Amino acid sequence: MARYPFLPQGATFLRVILEKNGITVEDLIEAHWLEEVRSRGRVRLLESVMHKEGVDSATTIDLSSDLGKMTESLSFFYAMLVVCASFNERLLARWVEGEASRADQLFGMDKENFDILARSYLSDIKEVRERAGGEVTYWVPISDFIELCPRISGNYWRLINRPLKEGWVCMNSGAGESSRKRTARLIKERIREDLTNSCVERMNKMDDSFAQLFIDPVERVTKLLSEQVKEEMPMNASIRADWPPCFESAVGELSQGVNVNHTGRLFLASMSLAMGLSQEQTCGFFANAPDYNADTTSYQINQIFEGKYTPHGCAALKTSARCPVSPGDDRLCDQEWLTHPLKYLKAKQRRRFQETGGTVITDKTE
Ligand code: SF4
Repeated sequence: MARYPFLPQGATFLRVILEKNGITVEDLIEAHWLEEVRSRGRVRLLESVMHKEGVDSATTIDLSSDLGKMTESLSFFYAMLVVCASFNERLLARWVEGEASRADQLFGMDKENFDILARSYLSDIKEVRERAGGEVTYWVPISDFIELCPRISGNYWRLINRPLKEGWVCMNSGAGESSRKRTARLIKERIREDLTNSCVERMNKMDDSFAQLFIDPVERVTKLLSEQVKEEMPMNASIRADWPPCFESAVGELSQGVNVNHTGRLFLASMSLAMGLSQEQTCGFFANAPDYNADTTSYQINQIFEGKYTPHGCAALKTSARCPVSPGDDRLCDQEWLTHPLKYLKAKQRRRFQETGGTVITDKTE
């Protein structure tokens, strides 16, 4: 439980740890003897903000001692409280992605506890061993697979490519990963959902006076997050100011490790092409995607650039839940003639040119 304090059973475990050691939330924030907990919590938070691969799966804490167990589990709790007290959805998405990626790595290596870990997130699981002493292959219920697989890219995750038998889906080894690692990847999606929901619930209950207690760590980590985001997005601010909200939100979500659906990804790549961005710049937008793979991304972007795909219009983006605006949010998007994000871009460029007398940044469609 100290290794996996985010498990659904973790809430009770954390309560017991706090009670047994007589620790209050105020102690967690300022008691001198809990500095190591805060320091480890800060490391977990910073790793999720800075590392594309998420939080480092290795810990330097000795989990065989009671003190080590307390430090590791409370560091997770402390980091979660800081994230909730920030009321910052981007930070939340980034931290959840870091913790979920770490869980994915740890679960994939934990042969001994894998069954119980998987059962904490899936409605059922079964192991099949083809021959004595051979590797185990895991099977998961089709209902779990169908719910979770659309959030993961790659042919392996399409139901048509998975062996099926009597309502069970075979998670055989693939892409250089064992069956356990593949199943852990599926479970990662549930962990992400579970952690996000519990943090949102906590945020809704948190009042301002409680959130104020975390003001220093919140300021530090949100500053770091905004610096990191700027660094990861090398676009010139004047170009960026012209982006339509649908493009901005697709880029922003991916950079925060949020999963963007197929239409959103295709739109991002084809819009980049229409805007005259390079393949390299376009690939860079995907570098923080939860299922990022450099080779697959560059192959797919190349296909889109070579095929000269045109970006979807507003109607298709709205149908696929990739238009983030509602009436009244953006005056340009409210215009009847605004039927395509490229029209948005051109209108913005034209307006800026008239206002500043500067140079219009043209796109390939002009
Ligand atoms: S209305 Fe069109 S241009 Fe505006 S955000 Fe939605 S899809 Fe993009």
